[in-house]
Amino acid sequence: MFQSLTQRLSGAFDRFRGEKELTESNIEEGLRDVRRALLDADVHFQVAKDFVDSVRERALGQAKIADKGVSASDQFVAAVHHELVELMGPEDARLQMAKSGPTVILMAGLQGAGKTTTCAKLARLLVTKHAKRPLLVAADVKRPAAVEQLRVLGRKLNVPVFHQEGLGPADVCERGVAHARAQGNDVVILDTAGRLHVDDELMDEVAEIARRTSPDDQILVVDSMTGQDAVRSAQEFHSRLSLTGVILTKFDGDARGGAALSLKKVTGCPILFLGTGEKIEDLDAFSAERVAGRILG
Ligand code: GDP
Repeated sequence: MFQSLTQRLSGAFDRFRGEKELTESNIEEGLRDVRRALLDADVHFQVAKDFVDSVRERALGQAKIADKGVSASDQFVAAVHHELVELMGPEDARLQMAKSGPTVILMAGLQGAGKTTTCAKLARLLVTKHAKRPLLVAADVKRPAAVEQLRVLGRKLNVPVFHQEGLGPADVCERGVAHARAQGNDVVILDTAGRLHVDDELMDEVAEIARRTSPDDQILVVDSMTGQDAVRSAQEFHSRLSLTGVILTKFDGDARGGAALSLKKVTGCPILFLGTGEKIEDLDAFSAERVAGRILG
């Protein structure tokens, strides 16, 4: 992830080598490279444009109050770093926990995005880092393989998995929450059905689950490898659900990074976690500061 973006940005920063100070003209040249690097990384074009405008403003501001000890290159890098953190954060978002009763986390996403795996990763994180007692609910009622996949993961983690044959998805979820309350589970993770594409039936189903279970968190799981499509599907889901956040999976892959950079700005949804591998422990809390640092190499 970000390999090519990092390289391209470092090319932009190289322009400032030997420059004594930031000037309107060297800033413009640097910005042209930054814009190209972002578009190349599949960043949404409006996001790239606004980003460049913000960096320009910041760099010009810095040029005026320049400390002679700081090189032009360092000033320009600092401006890009600052705006990257603003773009992806600036505050890092967290899960919202219920004040009383079990916290309900609805997980939605397209098939193959990594939803079921991520439900299990989240359950593990809640057990190991937050001493919680989660219950996983298998609500993809049309796909027995998905229910079995969650059961296997639950056994591995020693986390209970709730499912009832013959019920619709919203009924399974509602009963799952009641079951958690009865059994003393303090978090319920609803693994809803995925589809290959966003369609009305899927949206109606997830919206009905949300209506019946009043989730504290409504999280969309998106595959970072799908670039701008990840952003588009987040927009579509957000138009039907009140998403509280996004988890970007396959961050260990060689995607160009556009989804990570565009998501928050385009959808207004913060990124909560990053899936960084196939193993159950491969889930990191999202940190705009850390990702910005990684982009800048
Ligand atoms: P679902 O259809 O959305 O429930 O997707 P699954 O949970 O079944 O995951 C689909 C595939 O993506 C599986 O092969 C997972 O192992 C893989 N996967 C999920 N998350 C990640 C991740 O963060 N990194 C990598 N490399 N693979 C992942």
